[in-house]
Amino acid sequence: MPTSPSVLVIASGNAGKIREFAHLLASLPLTLRPQPDDLEVEETGDSFAANARLKAEAVARTTGEWALADDSGLAVEALGGAPGVHSARYADSDAARIARLLRELDDAGRERAQRGLPADRRAEFVAALAVADPSGALRLAVEGRCAGEILETPRGSGGFGYDPVFLVPEAGLTYAEMDKPLKSRLGHRGRAFALLEPQLRRLLGVPGGSA
Ligand code: IMP
Repeated sequence: MPTSPSVLVIASGNAGKIREFAHLLASLPLTLRPQPDDLEVEETGDSFAANARLKAEAVARTTGEWALADDSGLAVEALGGAPGVHSARYADSDAARIARLLRELDDAGRERAQRGLPADRRAEFVAALAVADPSGALRLAVEGRCAGEILETPRGSGGFGYDPVFLVPEAGLTYAEMDKPLKSRLGHRGRAFALLEPQLRRLLGVPGGSA
């Protein structure tokens, strides 16, 4: 039976992501470490959950430590869930990714109109988190979601990626118009961490979680 984690390796080489995870997990007695520099895990899964699991298991097996991985992206209803697991690779820059998304959604809208169907700009952001133990076995998996719609014109200057075109109707704001606490509360990643935290607490035997 593997022991509970005190070192947790974040399955990412991205310094910004590691800082964000450190902030979100600050209340837990964990020493966070970045994954080894030379480790590249191919994201070959066909879902966010599958990719998070692949990364967590590979990093745990390679390091012999507990590992936490995430995978996230945008799924657009009228595009059959695209860009989905290809969100990061959809184009070469944030501006180009947004331009491609708006172009494809316009094309889909025209096709729908020809078939007498109303416009459909519904989308959701999804964040999958996975924790693997030092043997490489999956121990926790959660998914956070945020429902929204894709605007025709970008709004707001905060955030990154698809933030300026993703409107969250319950807030009346795009992700790019939200401050960090609001995006954490309503956003897909914040919701995933809110689900993960009590489960990690249980795994660690740390009191104070809500579950
Ligand atoms: P990954 O989870 O680091 O592989 O990133 C997936 C991609 O999804 C990012 O490169 C962005 O294009 C997009 N994405 C994920 N989360 C967000 C977000 O909160 N805002 C905007 N784009 C996001």
